Amino acid sequence: MARATRTVMVRSVKLPRKVFRLLVELEGMYHNMVEQLVMYAVRNNIKSFTKLKALKYREMRRLYPQLPSHYVYTACQDASTRAKSFLRLKKLGLTQKEYPEVKRVSIWLDDHLWKPSGYTSIKVATHKGWIVVEIEPHKQYWKYINRGWRLASETKIKLDKRNRQLIIYLAFVKKDKEYKPKGYLPVDVNENNVTILVDGVAYLFETNTERLVLGYYYRRKRIQEKYDVVYGEKSRIKRKILKKLRERGRKLDIRWKIANIIVRSAYNKQYAIVLERFGRRVANSMIARIRDKQLRHRIFQAGFRGIQRAIEEKAREYGVPVIYVNPKYTSKLCPVHGTPIIYSNGSRIGRCSKGGELWHRDVVAICNLLLRARLGDGSNAPSLGGPTLDGRPVPLASTATHDPTRIPREVWTRWKSLEAA
Ligand SMILES: [Zn+2]
Repeated sequence: MARATRTVMVRSVKLPRKVFRLLVELEGMYHNMVEQLVMYAVRNNIKSFTKLKALKYREMRRLYPQLPSHYVYTACQDASTRAKSFLRLKKLGLTQKEYPEVKRVSIWLDDHLWKPSGYTSIKVATHKGWIVVEIEPHKQYWKYINRGWRLASETKIKLDKRNRQLIIYLAFVKKDKEYKPKGYLPVDVNENNVTILVDGVAYLFETNTERLVLGYYYRRKRIQEKYDVVYGEKSRIKRKILKKLRERGRKLDIRWKIANIIVRSAYNKQYAIVLERFGRRVANSMIARIRDKQLRHRIFQAGFRGIQRAIEEKAREYGVPVIYVNPKYTSKLCPVHGTPIIYSNGSRIGRCSKGGELWHRDVVAICNLLLRARLGDGSNAPSLGGPTLDGRPVPLASTATHDPTRIPREVWTRWKSLEAA
């Protein structure tokens, strides 16, 4: 069973002053708790929720006896998450601060602290008992309700003080049954392209991830430096412009687009997706020439791991099975003869040392991923052969150079599925 999660933001109606004041008090106490817990966790190098809770539960209960006890649980969860990411940054040398700032909070609620009340309101447990908050459902909310998604037991709420509203982040979950694959669709994620093989045709999607991330990174840096000089480090204008840039960056986020195309193609054919089992070393060696630690991490996230994650997430949503295979030597051995392919200095085209045929490096990789999936080199690959499997040999016309069909980014980002090809 695969599990997909989506967060949907809904707003409450404008709340009565009395109710809102109660929520402000609640937020204040929650904020204090998280702040104290984070300080403690960071000082004592605690990253685990269980440990933090074990050490601080009694004290927090004593400090806030009027609060329902589960607020201590969720505050510990919230705090341990913050502490963990702060300690990671600290370890990477990416922050000079002693403690993370707990500026804005959203209040984490578990199933003891909130419950839906019909489809148009929720109940929240507070220090003054349960309160009912009416929400303003929108189209997207109804879409999830009507399509068989279920509300998760955890949610987060945030106060919009200007409008006297509650912002509620509802998590929806859906369980989907994975189907039995009728064939395979291997995906090879490279530095600047994603190559897939569908029924013997290799498609190379140009992504230029590196250029995209680098461009964004330097633009951001330039803005920061420029505005820091003129307006000081904490200027409102700078924040606004960076926010705009971030939003544009998200729109340019090609990860979801490529994941959509791939997963829909697999789903339409009822194939399983084949991915490389990523070793850290593999990724690092690909971007090793980038000195800046933070930048390297970003490119890795945006490019290789990021695209894989997006595919995994989409696949879960559609119930498409994913198979992982060992990526070792996938671009070095001829998929037909199993002998080394010789690439002359730096070329993407190589010659098979046995058959003499020409191969494009990315096509070799993708064919080998398919072979490995068929041979059961994945954790849950079906056995070889069988009537339901695509049993043809590796695609190969003896005279071709096995070049992939190259699709520029400007073209494929407008697609919804491969059928557009
Ligand atoms: Zn060969």
